[in-house]
Amino acid sequence: MDNFDLIVIGGGSGGVRAARMAATRGFSVAIIEDTHWGGTCVNVGCVPKKLMVYASHYGYEFEDARSYGWEVEAGEFNWQHFMQKKDAEIGRLNVIYERLLENAGVKVIDGRGHISGPNTVVAGDQTYSADRILIAVGGKPFMPNLPGSEHCISSDQIFFLPEQPKSVVMVGGGFIALEFACILAGMGTKVTLLYRGELFLRGFDKDVREKMVPAIRDLGIDLKLSSDIDHIDLNDVGQRVVSVNDGTELVADQVFFATGRVPRTEGLWADSLQINTDKSGAVLVDDNFESSERSIFALGDVVGRLALTPVATAEAMAMVDYWIEGKAVDIDYSIIPVAVFTQPNVSTVGMTEDQAIEQNVPVKIFRADFKHMKHSLTGRDDQIFMKMLVHAETDKVLGLHAIGPDVGEMIQTAAVAITAGATKAHFDRTIGIHPTMAEELVTMRTERAS
Ligand code: FAD
Repeated sequence: MDNFDLIVIGGGSGGVRAARMAATRGFSVAIIEDTHWGGTCVNVGCVPKKLMVYASHYGYEFEDARSYGWEVEAGEFNWQHFMQKKDAEIGRLNVIYERLLENAGVKVIDGRGHISGPNTVVAGDQTYSADRILIAVGGKPFMPNLPGSEHCISSDQIFFLPEQPKSVVMVGGGFIALEFACILAGMGTKVTLLYRGELFLRGFDKDVREKMVPAIRDLGIDLKLSSDIDHIDLNDVGQRVVSVNDGTELVADQVFFATGRVPRTEGLWADSLQINTDKSGAVLVDDNFESSERSIFALGDVVGRLALTPVATAEAMAMVDYWIEGKAVDIDYSIIPVAVFTQPNVSTVGMTEDQAIEQNVPVKIFRADFKHMKHSLTGRDDQIFMKMLVHAETDKVLGLHAIGPDVGEMIQTAAVAITAGATKAHFDRTIGIHPTMAEELVTMRTERAS
């Protein structure tokens, strides 16, 4: 039996980072992956999605270019050409991930890992042992159990469809549903977005959520809020016929469920092990990522905190630092910046107005709402929105929320200031860069009600 200091199950963002960090600092490490190296982010998440976001924007850019004097026509989007290029790039990244692990001295194992005991993992016909086992198996799309849901796709399949669907019913109200609704609409697919709640992007600031409603409709997306699906049938030309609970029917080439994700923990460990999970199957861990079995740890999407790649990698580095240097894990989950790559983008960091009310935090609110300078020539009505929450007594900036092109790039930098404890006075003292939209961040002088 091969023996290691650490066995990692799952070669995604968190698992790969933990394996590499531990190996470069002297641990003997093995990592097991059953699908593709790099995990969700590289293969069916952030990376191919962002490539699709870029692809979808060209449609609008060609139109805008005409307003600036370029005599160009958009033409048709070639789905197969894009998919080929995307697959080649992802293949390149898979190899890089595997090579990074091997160069760090990690034993790379292809196969499905099963935890057979507190210190043993089986993959294929081999059993491996380790002082510590890390569960970094991530999650998978949740598909509702509705009649006809077997005819539907999730984010795992959209990246591999041989043909661009001409029409899609997108189901969901989270960031994945909104991003893919915008991506597909930008590529020329007719999109209906169906969400059972009254307003999408739950957990985001209410102004941002409300302002994104007309922005989504302006893209030609048919937005149906407070709507749910009853069942789905196939018609005789292979299209999906969606029966909505208001009695209407929608016909589309594909139905895409973006209705959340669940941890991939089913059957992962032997029944004799006492690994506590929540209702969804997420592994419950303490502040140092230790589960209720002392030799078994878990991080990333499988612990169900914040399902984002930089969170998984930060957790991995903090855990390894804790093991090796005894350094306390110090991740502030309340100021993690987030971007939603819709058209236009949404980005946010820190407290929302509703959280301030719930937590009884006295805040001053500054808002800016203006037309993007670029569209003074295109005639497009894309508005830029920024909202800043400032502690009314300490003057500390507690939250920033924005809608606009590439606002994630701006919020990332602002998040450094907020993490450092910047006050509104610091923002006010900072000289702007003119003409940019980000200069508005340092010129919001007066409090503005919504
Ligand atoms: P994963 O990356 O999911 O890795 C887990 C790995 O474990 C997988 O490779 C899986 O095959 C493997 N595995 C599972 N079970 C076993 C087993 N028994 N044996 C061996 N291997 C196993 N995050 C962002 O920060 N920005 C984004 O823009 C973004 N966009 C996203 C878009 C989509 C469509 C999706 C689905 C996710 C997106 N995310 C994004 C989230 C991000 O991908 C995840 O938070 C991140 O990948 C989590 O890393 P992880 O290591 O926890 O899990």
